[in-house]
This record gives sequence, structure tokens and C-alpha cells, in this order.
Amino acid sequence: MATVQKTSRRNFIRSASLGIGALALSPALVQLSMARSAKKLGIALVGLGGYAGGQLAPALQQTQNCYLAGIVTGTPSKADDWAKKYNIPQKNIYSYENFHEIAKNPDIDIIYIVLPVSMHKEYTIKAAQAGKHVICEKPMALNAGECREMIAACKKAGKLLSIGYRLHFEPHTIELMRLGQKQVYGKVKSIDTGNGFTYRGDPNAWRLKKALAGGGGLMDMGIYSIQGSRYTLGQEPVAVKATQEKTKPELFKDVDETVFWELKFPGGQKVNGKSSYNHDWGYLKAEAEKGNFELSPAFGYGGINGKVNGNAMHFPQINQQAAQMDDFAMCVLQNKQSRVPGEEGLKDMMVIDAIYRSLDSGNWEKIS
Ligand code: NAD
Repeated sequence: MATVQKTSRRNFIRSASLGIGALALSPALVQLSMARSAKKLGIALVGLGGYAGGQLAPALQQTQNCYLAGIVTGTPSKADDWAKKYNIPQKNIYSYENFHEIAKNPDIDIIYIVLPVSMHKEYTIKAAQAGKHVICEKPMALNAGECREMIAACKKAGKLLSIGYRLHFEPHTIELMRLGQKQVYGKVKSIDTGNGFTYRGDPNAWRLKKALAGGGGLMDMGIYSIQGSRYTLGQEPVAVKATQEKTKPELFKDVDETVFWELKFPGGQKVNGKSSYNHDWGYLKAEAEKGNFELSPAFGYGGINGKVNGNAMHFPQINQQAAQMDDFAMCVLQNKQSRVPGEEGLKDMMVIDAIYRSLDSGNWEKIS
């Protein structure tokens, strides 16, 4: 049943993109269309670094609705390795120079941007203009203004945009959202959350350069705690006050090391968060009127654990990336908005922008 529905919607989308109505298809075209519709949607990964190689490509071996169809890389030796490992045909391998030619490639339905943050806007917009749907990794862009441009470009091109927010497909996280938003233990009164790791990588990596990363631990790790607070409450924060600490100024000369913030929500809840490139954190604890619940680890993909009133949650560990990409492929097939659209990335960036303003001003800053 699901297959039939998927097939007919797929035909419609393909027909629409060819500029012809389904009823006008010749029998030969119907056959071609049916053959294509039996296939999974093709994803091309742009940027073959740690996350693309370590998580996304392996996850694409497990997906039902999409598969690894193509790659975009500036390194020819990587292209060869990936082509062999994942059986990617030469015609589906692009460089940054000939990226625009992907527009002509019917094998590629979705382009997944897995580049340094400063490149997210450019490649998201290029992908949409090439007529492809887009998944862009977090943080969505350098600032909220860039996010707005990306959303507008995808809308103009009539393409769906989603952010790589894998946790929205993760069972413990979905339960946390339910407990908080449905007020299962009454209203949430306070949230305490932190996310970070001790950076031991290359001191010259893009993650430590503001122009490429937009910021440090806050952009990379704090974004999970910010979003965790938003999805636990199901509300948007209106103001923030932040402070920071730097114990390794020579390593973090260009970006933030550890940041602490307090968020003001319309419901008056007390929400404290922190992010770091110098502490190993990864939790979210919520105190409600008649109970408490928490996730720890809360944000990674090496296993999530949860407790409700001190008792363990029992949910399966899943491949978050496979679930996230399968869901987006289904959204494309059904022409419906993802549960993590560009607007969700924008909301986090509005908070992050306000945190950086507060670090500069030392005051509460409005989130707008
Ligand atoms: P990485 O450094 O391992 O990979 C970046 C890739 O971009 C490399 O292949 C590199 O060659 C390429 N690149 C192209 N132009 C570049 C340039 N000018 N400078 C540096 N690299 C350039 O990074 P990563 O860890 O794979 O992160 C990529 C994106 O994925 C980031 O936005 C990051 O936040 C995100 N990410 C998300 C998750 C998640 O759980 N959702 C996890 C890790 C990373």
C-alpha cells in the first residue's frame, strides 16, 4: 500500500518537474516513469569529511527511501576511494568547479551539504538553483541573515530544505518532547543543559577559525542544548544573557571556548545552558511541577539514555542519520515540509546571534 502511494506520488513529482501532466504521459514515458519510481531517491554528499564518511555514507547503506548516488569533492583521490567503496559511477562525481552541472543529472534528487559552516549558504543556494532538494548540516549558516537567504532561495526554486537535525527522529528525544510539550508531569519549571567536548584536534582546523565556523563550541555543540530547550518546552525564547570563560586562549584565539547562558521563555521557565570545546558535557535535565526527566547522553549518535523520575526509559537505539534521511526522502516523495525545515535552523541561529550579542554587551539581548 505504502509502495503504491509512494510510486504514484513519485510519478506525479517527476511528471511535474518535466512540465507535463501525468495524464499526458505516453505509454513509453509511463513505463520509464514507473521504472524510475521503483528506485530510491538519489542523494549526493557535498564535502567528504569526518561526518560524511563516518556517519552519512554508512547510514545511506541502511536507508529505504534514498541511497548514496553521488559525491562532490575537491580531492580526486577521495573521489576514487569513494567510487570504489560505494560503487558510485564516474558520471555522478563532481568537483566544486563543475558542481553546477549536477542540474542535468537525473540520478541526483537531493544534495546534502556537509561542508564547513561558511560554505553552507553558498552550496545550499547553488543546489536549490540546480533544481535539487537540499539537506544542510548544522549549524545552518554563519548567522540568521544567511539562514533567511537560504530559505528564500529554496522557496524561490520550489525545493525543500531541511537541516541535519537527526535527533528529531530519535525515540528518547521524541519522548522528551512529548513529556515536556504535553506537560505529562505538569509544566516544566526549569531546564539545565550542557553540550561540549574537549577539543584535541588540529589547532589549524576550520572549526577554530571564526570566518569558517562562525564561532566555537557554541555554534558546534551549544546549538544542541539551545534546540533541546526549545523542543522540551515547545516554545521560543525571547531573550538571553550570556557569559564566557577562556582557559586556553592560544588554542581558542579566534572562537569561543566555554559559554554559559540563561534563556528567557514566555512561560517564565528557568533555562540554563552551556557549551564547550573544553568540557565533556552532553545532557538535558527538565524539572516539571510533578516530576522530572532527563537525557544523558542527550545529543550524540553513540547511544542516548533517558530517565523519567529516576527510572530508565526503554527505547531502541536507532541509526539516527538513516532515519533522518529516509524521512526527508519521504517528504520529497510526498512534497511535504520536513519536520526540521530551514526555519528550524533559523530559530537556533537567532538564539546564537543573540548570545554573541550578549557576550559583547554584557546585557540581556532580545532574540529576534
Ligand atoms: P570535516 O572537517 O571532517 O569535513 C569537512 C569537509 O569539507 C572536508 O571533506 C573538507 O575537505 C571539505 N572542505 C571543502 N572546502 C573546505 C575548506 N575551505 N576548508 C575546510 N574544509 C573544506 O568536518 P565535519 O565534522 O564532517 O563537519 C562538516 C559539517 O557537518 C559541519 O557543519 C558540522 O557541524 C556538521 N556535523 C554534524 C554532525 C551531526 O551530528 N549532525 C556531526 C559532525 C559534523
